[in-house]
Amino acid sequence: MNTDLVVVGSGLFGLTVAERAARELGLKVTMIDRRPHLGGNAYSENEERTGIEVHRYGAHLFHTSNERVWEYVNRFTQFTNYVHRVYTRHQGEVYPMPINLGTINQFFRAAYSPGEARELIREQAGELAGTDPQNLNDKGIQLIGRPLYEAFIKHYTGKQWQTAPKDLPASIISRLPVRYTYDNRYFNDTHEGLPVDGYTAWLERMADHPNIDVRLDTDFFDDSQEFSKANVVGQVPVVYTGPVDRYFDFAEGDLSWRTIDLEEEVLDIEDFQGTSVMNYPDADVPYTRIHEFRHFHPERDYTKDATVIMREFSRFAEKGDEPYYPVNTSQDREKLLAYRDLAKGESSVLFGGRLGTYKYLDMHMAIGSALSMVDNKIAPHFTSGAPLTSGGVDE
Ligand code: UDP
Repeated sequence: MNTDLVVVGSGLFGLTVAERAARELGLKVTMIDRRPHLGGNAYSENEERTGIEVHRYGAHLFHTSNERVWEYVNRFTQFTNYVHRVYTRHQGEVYPMPINLGTINQFFRAAYSPGEARELIREQAGELAGTDPQNLNDKGIQLIGRPLYEAFIKHYTGKQWQTAPKDLPASIISRLPVRYTYDNRYFNDTHEGLPVDGYTAWLERMADHPNIDVRLDTDFFDDSQEFSKANVVGQVPVVYTGPVDRYFDFAEGDLSWRTIDLEEEVLDIEDFQGTSVMNYPDADVPYTRIHEFRHFHPERDYTKDATVIMREFSRFAEKGDEPYYPVNTSQDREKLLAYRDLAKGESSVLFGGRLGTYKYLDMHMAIGSALSMVDNKIAPHFTSGAPLTSGGVDE
């Protein structure tokens, strides 16, 4: 087999491993993907009629405080100065998200100072104030008090996860900052922006190297393929970024995932909602949010005759659906431990990325973790023969 390394999946994790292995280590890399395009869920394309760039698998916002990752991604694309801000429509009124002093004062029809608002939220968090809860429900109440939790988090989370918030990890809600200032930036990171000429141009540049052979429409689990699991494992080192349970043929049971359905609509108006993302936290609206893609690139000269919106619906993934979010209930965590043990026994196969580690990684985290895998596992193996074994799928 005329390749040094097989990378299964061409999302940001796989692309980063392939790029480093080819350019830095001089390896011949074969990267396969079962989809007809590379880039995983970060892939985007221009909507035919309007030319507006649409993120095919839901909106992707790049942000990081990791200097190494920022320097790395800037080798492949420049970033715009887009700063993500989200609004949320609750009972006929629009509020800024994440919850900040503006949200608090609008919700309570008040003009609290930062100190007064903190005091109020502490009271409203009741017995959970000052604690360190491990589940999303208690963490949410502890962070913002019960009334704000019930207005903006409870039903949104219900629609997004369809899992009792008490059964979800607190880390999901800790993704969102709570601010006692009027700063309504969605992310806290040092660096933020969108690729100037689109996600796909960025992702294709990462794979554009003579040592990288990209094979699309190629399923790792189809034994008739040259680079199938049956043909490559044990022959060539593999970096696998697909779902970890699928790799082991679901031997320890199915891990639960959320998938999303995106309904795209082109409207004959210039502007539908005046912003890129509007959340819908009420129980009586079936979708979680609406994206309007023109607002991600105000610097572009898009048509004024039409706009593209996408309604996002969330549900449990069945077999055959695209997995997006690891649900990560306590049963899932038990199964994951069993899969990690299996992964350790799988020599010359490394597991990475959101699907391969069953972790809610953002793009910059997937890239950072791929760079670490190259440093800690792949480079030592190819330069000094260190064994290529996974220390567990969490690495
Ligand atoms: N969330 C919420 N209300 C909102 C926005 C977020 O309750 O208006 C909660 C919800 O549980 C969600 C989590 O915060 O799953 C993380 O939100 P984020 O926007 O980071 O999710 P992503 O953009 O990755 O889907």
